[in-house]
Amino acid sequence: MAKKSKKKTAQRSRQRTVKKVKKRSAVKPARRKKVVPIAIVPAQKPSTPSPTAHYNPYEVVLHNFELASKRINLSDELAMLIRTPDRELRVELPVLMDDGKLHSIIGYRVQHNNARGPYKGGIRYHQEVDLDEVRALASLMTWKTSVVDIPFGGAKGGVTIDPTKLSLGELERLTRAFTNKIDLIIGPSEDIPAPDVNTNAQTMAWMMDEYSKVHGYSPAVVTGKPVELGGSLGREEATGRGVCIALRESARTHHLDLKKVTVAVQGFGNVGSHTARILEQEMGVKVVAVSDVKGGIYNPRGIRFSDASTQFKNTGSVVGLKGAVKLTNEELLELKCDVLIPAALGNQLRFDNANRVQAKLIVEAANGPTTYEADEIFASRKIPVIPDIYANAGGVTVSYFEWVQNVQRFRWEYARVVNELEKIMISSYAAVLQMSEKHKVPLRIGAFILAVERVARAAKLRGV
Ligand code: NAD
Repeated sequence: MAKKSKKKTAQRSRQRTVKKVKKRSAVKPARRKKVVPIAIVPAQKPSTPSPTAHYNPYEVVLHNFELASKRINLSDELAMLIRTPDRELRVELPVLMDDGKLHSIIGYRVQHNNARGPYKGGIRYHQEVDLDEVRALASLMTWKTSVVDIPFGGAKGGVTIDPTKLSLGELERLTRAFTNKIDLIIGPSEDIPAPDVNTNAQTMAWMMDEYSKVHGYSPAVVTGKPVELGGSLGREEATGRGVCIALRESARTHHLDLKKVTVAVQGFGNVGSHTARILEQEMGVKVVAVSDVKGGIYNPRGIRFSDASTQFKNTGSVVGLKGAVKLTNEELLELKCDVLIPAALGNQLRFDNANRVQAKLIVEAANGPTTYEADEIFASRKIPVIPDIYANAGGVTVSYFEWVQNVQRFRWEYARVVNELEKIMISSYAAVLQMSEKHKVPLRIGAFILAVERVARAAKLRGV
């Protein structure tokens, strides 16, 4: 009965969100559409909906925001002001494909809040990107930059496309078209994009170049650039390095000996692969399982990063590595191990699988991997979850260092980047832990309380 009424409430709240989405019509692109005399292929839609598609990531973030704002008795007016995005831009991108056909591709940039500084957040290319996902990720960025106390707000961008089906030329044309369409709202002091899923330093180089054509040389308009174009040393590995520091700090408070634990990492992209590498090569931690979109591999004696990396480079997947057992991504999440690090997509740990997770500690390298139902299950099973808005904040922290270097036209040495990142990750963990102990709430809500208080204070001070 209780489950039924919970389901109904969730359904109603989902319907309300959908209504709001329709009402809050997106800002129209400022430029007129060109009339192109060739057939336009409609925007790409996901061919098969993902099994987790019915989870609305934006609702999950709002749920956590509500829990935190109630704890600190945030006024309704202030809560209303800082919970919803400031601006949402939906753009249509005409992209000429290699076969001569023109495709119409949809992209978004959502600016959530800039009370503490310019909007900041990555750009994701994925076939399941939609407005609610980008909205959720933009909101998470506001809370993340606040948790680690760097002077940025939160934003996110996304393009609904499967980039694995595009050639390099098509990707470049898509990226330049997207940059042109969002040009009117980004800028070094306005909104600074960065890489996210399926985008990388090359994507940022194209964005920087396209923006600079209109505004003059502007390296500070994006972060995560190649080092040759003003990128920061240590940025590429920064999110993974931050995840490792988060694991080290939390292992201490949760009495786990890193020399003895086993770790499973879902995702072998930027974040997952650097996490696995640093854990093994710098911290001596045994990583027993890794995965990518094609599946996972497991070896109880440990998987050497260099072997997995070579396998990935040679075949496009870690699957097939000699001496390791093949498993599915679902099996990896439920593997017998001490630490689980989801480092791929959102909504991986849910009502339907949270009870089968065997790890003693979960460190969220991905954004939004845990639904609130799963959070409740983990809390009741006393499995601590180190929340995304702290655990994966290393990336945006070094993005901040990159932006500072660009603005000052001064390059930092690698050791300085790593040292400053360490300091921020350590002090932020202490602040999150303190908040969670003070309010007797899980670490995620402690992190949200810390973040929401800071954003609310800034909004109030600036005058709302
Ligand atoms: P990436 O594109 O480099 O890698 C994504 C990885 O996930 C790949 O290994 C891919 O094969 C795997 N994957 C994709 N779909 C999957 C599926 N359905 N099941 C299992 N694995 C799947 O992306 P990334 O930059 O490493 O980002 C990973 C996560 O970390 C995302 O949630 C992202 O938002 C978050 N994040 C990234 C950064 C950053 O600096 N790149 C910063 C903070 C958070």
